[in-house]
Amino acid sequence: MSVSENIKHFLSTEIPSNVKLIAVSKTKPIELIEEAYQSGHRIYGENKAQELAGKYDALPKDIEWHMIGHMQTNKVKYIAPFVSLIHGVDSFKLLKVVNKEGEKNNRKINCLLQFHIATEETKFGLDLNEAIEFIKSDEFKNLNNVNICGVMGMATYTENEATIRSEFKELVYIFNELKQAYITSSDFKEISMGMSGDYKIAIEEGATMVRIGSLLFGARNYNK
Ligand SMILES: *Cc1c(COP(=O)(O)O)cnc(C)c1O
Repeated sequence: MSVSENIKHFLSTEIPSNVKLIAVSKTKPIELIEEAYQSGHRIYGENKAQELAGKYDALPKDIEWHMIGHMQTNKVKYIAPFVSLIHGVDSFKLLKVVNKEGEKNNRKINCLLQFHIATEETKFGLDLNEAIEFIKSDEFKNLNNVNICGVMGMATYTENEATIRSEFKELVYIFNELKQAYITSSDFKEISMGMSGDYKIAIEEGATMVRIGSLLFGARNYNK
């Protein structure tokens, strides 16, 4: 199957209509994304700012680009003018930089707060208390150029389904806590969780966005 057929098939058989598919095209060439584009799918995810900016320049402008990876603050400027959603806001230092870049570009940048739900030390993210502390601050209330649209998390890389499921449940719990008491905006509605290996569990647990790469585009050459 071509990438385009793959995406169409995946969307029609695996993804409920209320869940958004982020097709993760990181490391894949422009030509392959052009092929994917033929499916009609318009939401793509990348994890490196400069790669994302290059692909934005080269590809049709109706693509919605999502930044899904860990971001260094000095890279925000490359994507601030056009990015649709930054999934990996894992520190308030980063959120403040995104806000500043949003201001420079005269726009409000959509962000998800990334929470640390995995047992692995290597996965980035906030913890709930840390987030609440900041959200209650005046500094947070003055960030007028970011729009907090929800939460994102990555489960532990494991075969153990119970572990994955409980980590996704934790993210949903965090989302609900924040929604009920701290971020009451109607834009705060997204739960980004689930990748090629665990998207089924993520959807069962309430994901509103799944980020799928290798199942659609084939395995990547390096493990990122
Ligand atoms: C690479 C990546 C994905 C997609 O991974 P696959 O296993 O190829 O589906 C999803 N989320 C993040 C944050 C990633 O870096």
